[in-house]
Amino acid sequence: MITLTGKKISEGIAIGKLTFYKRDIKEIKRIYVKDVEKEIQRYKKAREKAIAELELVYDLSVREVGEANAAIFEMQKELLENQEYTDFIMKRILEEKLNAEYIVQTSVEQLIRISSHQQNNPIQGKEEDVRDVAIRVIRILSRSWKDRMLTDEPFVMAARDIYPSEALQFDKAKVLGFVTMYGTINSHTAVLARKKGIPAVIGLGESLKEEYDGKTIIIDGYEGKIYIEPDYATLTKMRERKDANLRHVRNLERLKGKENITQSGQRIDICANVGTREDIENVLRSDAGGIGLFRSEFLYMEMGSKLPSEEQLFQVYKLAAESMGANRVVVRIADFGGDKMVESVDLGEQANPAIGLRGIRIMMEKEELFLPQFRAILRASALGNVSIMFPMVTSMEEVAAAKALLEKAKKQLKDEKTAYNENIEIGVMIETPAAVMISGELAREVDFFSIGTNDLLQLTLGMDRENPKLDKYYNPYHPALMKMIRIVANNVHLEGKRISICGDLAADLSMTEFFVQIGIDELSVAPHQVLGLRKKIREIQ
Ligand code: PEP
Ligand code: MG
Repeated sequence: MITLTGKKISEGIAIGKLTFYKRDIKEIKRIYVKDVEKEIQRYKKAREKAIAELELVYDLSVREVGEANAAIFEMQKELLENQEYTDFIMKRILEEKLNAEYIVQTSVEQLIRISSHQQNNPIQGKEEDVRDVAIRVIRILSRSWKDRMLTDEPFVMAARDIYPSEALQFDKAKVLGFVTMYGTINSHTAVLARKKGIPAVIGLGESLKEEYDGKTIIIDGYEGKIYIEPDYATLTKMRERKDANLRHVRNLERLKGKENITQSGQRIDICANVGTREDIENVLRSDAGGIGLFRSEFLYMEMGSKLPSEEQLFQVYKLAAESMGANRVVVRIADFGGDKMVESVDLGEQANPAIGLRGIRIMMEKEELFLPQFRAILRASALGNVSIMFPMVTSMEEVAAAKALLEKAKKQLKDEKTAYNENIEIGVMIETPAAVMISGELAREVDFFSIGTNDLLQLTLGMDRENPKLDKYYNPYHPALMKMIRIVANNVHLEGKRISICGDLAADLSMTEFFVQIGIDELSVAPHQVLGLRKKIREIQ
């Protein structure tokens, strides 16, 4: 058994087979294989799949670009079917006892070299196609986790690091947990793991080796430990812990329908944070009192290089509004930037993205990108209790610009006779020290506030939440942050407005009593954290 310790980012126990995720197929490793016959079968299957793919691509291309142009795929298929080519690869796997990906990659150049010395060799003049075909086979061999999610048994993923846009797509039923060599506790990947309730340990460094691929692994997300090829005693202990956790979750179910009220009768709302259409279903199951933060940028991340249209955004907001009924749905306009890079939005090179062009600052620069969002949110406001919120605010001017854009969107909809809520509530995220200092003035301008403790902490401490070297200095309970939360709560309440906390600290049960004490109106947490938080509140005197 191998035991490794990393950083815990998301609690829970996961037990399964470890699969290394290779994002870049250029990084093919040379791996010695024990079972040569199995490797040959693996190659044969990948080759068959590549042939089937090429047949499909050919048919599609005939329809789109005509038979003459599609012929290239027919020719590529013939190359793959060439018996000499197949024999060459299989013979090398057999003799060299190496992994198929490596053999395919290195064989291409060998075959091209050989063909250049032979007359009438079928490869001559088709070098680029031979390479293209090889890449197709290698891609199938080193199947991405997306393919695995569609076809295979659930697994535990290992990777150098995982981008937020990738974590966003993890299906909890398939990705049981994940472990990485690098990454930071406060990144959005970590936020997403917690939000989805996927156990994860990161920062294992080079001791997380690719040779562990295919082995049984246990992730202990409570302790930040992983066990590779665990012994019987560890496996039993961890299974027990997993069952105990399940029993705890089942016990919490009894709190569904109960109030979030302390022993002395003080109430506090609990809402949920979401980012995708799928999350909305989880909110309903969680018994949260609404959506306290809809991170719209995730709707952009999901679409890859394509921008979502107003209609696509509207359909998701509509679902949220209708599903929540009378409960609040706080839609934050997209907070691009920082570690939430979106393929379809080019922000250019930035030396310090965390304090760069991001949040509402992008809205000031790219009105055309935000107008469809405003319209979509407004249209959804006709169907439920929807409000709009602005991220990374630092000045009154930004709020004025956001309001002006909202008025523009309203006017357009009015002219088009499209329904919306004229009195839609406007909220501001408090996640910069500047916003804390002007929270009194802001409170006269908008209807509600939500403290984003994740960004507020990094900006207050002047420490990048993405930098693993700073983990030990990154104190989420820093007195400066506590003072700021108090100041904001006071200023906002003086104006009779609502204050919520939607950063990760909202779910920290060691903070709940403090939040209740200073009169925070709402805590917004990941759906699976709602009932645990309710339990904590009901225990407070
Ligand atoms: C925060 O900064 O605390 C917050 C909720 O916003 P995000 O994590 O999306 O940056
Ligand atoms: Mg933030």
